[in-house]
Amino acid sequence: GLTTDAEVVQREAEAISARHLRSQNSQKFEFQAEVSRLMDIIINSLYSNKDVFLRELISNASDALDKIRFLSLTDKTVLGEGNDAKLDIHIKLDKVNNILTIRDRGVGMTKEDLIKNLGTIAKSGTSAFLEQVQQGGDLNLIGQFGVGFYSVYLVADYVEVISKHNDNKHRYIWESKADGKFAVIEDTENEPLGRGTEIRIHLKKDASELYAEETKLRELVKKYSEFIDFPIYLWASKE
Ligand code: ADP
Ligand code: MG
Repeated sequence: GLTTDAEVVQREAEAISARHLRSQNSQKFEFQAEVSRLMDIIINSLYSNKDVFLRELISNASDALDKIRFLSLTDKTVLGEGNDAKLDIHIKLDKVNNILTIRDRGVGMTKEDLIKNLGTIAKSGTSAFLEQVQQGGDLNLIGQFGVGFYSVYLVADYVEVISKHNDNKHRYIWESKADGKFAVIEDTENEPLGRGTEIRIHLKKDASELYAEETKLRELVKKYSEFIDFPIYLWASKE
């Protein structure tokens, strides 16, 4: 029969708590020291222009889509079929659980990519950016230092990155509360997400007032989509 929005939300909430239980079996990692310091500064920041997080995540989604599109120039089969072939970005707001999700059908990340790119290997810009911020520099420049992803912790206290790389059959979940460590586990229980990456942003209380609001989100997405080559769809649950 028909599924109501409330049932969907309920099922998602159950899936999330199931994942918390599974995390006991996940592999634990420590962030590289400078990355950990950077995250600490970001999650505790009183910086008011938190909108940058959305620009950075949309830009990462667009980069990942660029990569798969580039690969498809020499091998059309990499695009796959059905939904996988659609090079787009979906943003979903779940107002009941205060979760904002950004999903792309880009190149995706392997387990090793998740571990390296999101935590254990610091980019050369990390220390330069730390120095800037400590001297009162603008957090808005974060993307230029190659650490834009971590700006998600301006609005989140818990983030899950679920990704399936183009070359790999397996899908992995990366998760962190920005407390110096992250965990990675194979995702076996979610509905198949296909190729690409889904970032689940569990909004902080103060951020949920701002971003769990459809009008505000729509306005921001419109602003940042101007420079993006791929369609962006926004979907919001009812209260
Ligand atoms: P930058 O985009 O400047 O490289 P970020 O901190 O924004 O720095 O992202 C770090 C890395 O994480 C990216 O270089 C990329 O390898 C990986 N990454 C982040 N988001 C995605 C995504 N949506 N799809 C695939 N890879 C991603
Ligand atoms: Mg980026």
